[in-house]
Amino acid sequence: MAAYLELYRSGKLRERIEAAVFLLESCSLCPHSCGVNRLTGDVGKCRTPREAIVSSYGPHFGEEAPLVGGHGSGTIFFTNCNLRCQFCQNYSISQLGEGEKVNREELADMMLSLQAKGCNNINLVSPTHVVPQILEALEIAVESGLQLPLVYNSGGYDSVETLRILDGIVDIYMPDMKYDDEETAKELSGIESYPSTNKAAIKEMHQQVGDLKINEQGVAERGLLVRHLVLPNGLAGTKGIVNFLSGEISPNTYVNIMDQYHPCYRAFQIESLVRRISPVEFHEALSLAQEAGLSRLDRACPVEILRIRSE
Ligand code: SF4
Repeated sequence: MAAYLELYRSGKLRERIEAAVFLLESCSLCPHSCGVNRLTGDVGKCRTPREAIVSSYGPHFGEEAPLVGGHGSGTIFFTNCNLRCQFCQNYSISQLGEGEKVNREELADMMLSLQAKGCNNINLVSPTHVVPQILEALEIAVESGLQLPLVYNSGGYDSVETLRILDGIVDIYMPDMKYDDEETAKELSGIESYPSTNKAAIKEMHQQVGDLKINEQGVAERGLLVRHLVLPNGLAGTKGIVNFLSGEISPNTYVNIMDQYHPCYRAFQIESLVRRISPVEFHEALSLAQEAGLSRLDRACPVEILRIRSE
């Protein structure tokens, strides 16, 4: 049973919606704290007014296996982002504003249609700047029978205050951990405080939902799943991130170390980002995670690679 159903029955979901909408008046939904009044249509760094903007939605089979199951993860891609990653792999949506405004009823209908298609969950992609809009739609969808767990699929620049509003609503947190170094975070995403803010958010998420629980059918039910995209030239700070996860979160954290980086958007203007990662860089990242004691990697490091590194 999705966590939010209990909050809805107790009447507390409405209180959470009101708390989230309140943050829009002088917007502090995310750590940027722009202070703009989004209730009257002003926009801050995420360029998103009162209504959410959606690029696309539908069953998605390219996510991690525990999210996909047999019928796909029910993704809703929100337009815009509170990050400015120079290499964004989804830049037409996150930076160029591709998408259409949707009201709460339309967003609720999207959730219900994904459930009707048999999806395992509602996978909210880039939800940070539209948390109130999601909750308003959720209430309508629950009244029409929505039961699927929510996946909060964020870039990891989330405020603890907003995450606390989501306690008991989100079942699966799937944040990125992009960098471990402030200078790199500033250069590549324009946010120096990303590493410390990101780590505080991950701690809050884990405190709410714990390690990822996967049922007998192989489907994720609740918990934390962390994504880490390996960048060329060690820019993602993999060692610091895997050590943090193992030491300060849990060695049982489910982690997807990703190899699909390819230069796009403004990456061609940054010398250290103009190439894909090499197989050696990827396997090094995997083995760093294993050496840190993380035992639940979405892809295990081949034994041969570990043997070579240990020689
Ligand atoms: S959600 Fe948008 S407007 Fe609000 S603080 Fe974050 S970037 Fe600024």
